[in-house]
Amino acid sequence: MTARRPSLPRLLKKWQRKLRLLDWEISIAYGTPEAMGSTTDNTVYGQCRPQRQHRSAEILILDPDHFSPDAPTHYTNVELTLVHELCHIVCEPVFDKVKMTKENDLAQEVVVETFAKALLEL
Ligand SMILES: [Zn+2]
Repeated sequence: MTARRPSLPRLLKKWQRKLRLLDWEISIAYGTPEAMGSTTDNTVYGQCRPQRQHRSAEILILDPDHFSPDAPTHYTNVELTLVHELCHIVCEPVFDKVKMTKENDLAQEVVVETFAKALLEL
C-alpha cells in the first residue's frame, strides 16, 4: 500500500463509522476510466450508487494509475473522493426531493465537496 493508492476497505471502515453509516452495506473498488464513465472531456474520479431502500451502495474510485499528471490535487486525493461519495449518501434524502436540473446537480456537488473538505480539514 502506498499513500497514492490507499486501502479502500480501511478508509471506508473509518469514514462509515464517522459518518454514522455503519448500518449500510457499502461495496468499494478502484475503477478504470471506462468503468467510471469518464469521457475525453470529463474525468470521473468517484461514483456512488446508493439504494436507500436496501441501505446499500456501490462506490467506485478512479484507479490512481489513471490520474492525469495535471489533475488538481484535490481530485487525486483518494480519501477526499471517498468521503465526498459517502457525503452523497448522507445528503441523498434531502437532494432526492429536489428536481434534478443542471443547476441543482452543481449545487449538490458544491455542498457535498464543502462537507468532505471540512471533514478532512482541507
Ligand atoms: Zn459528487
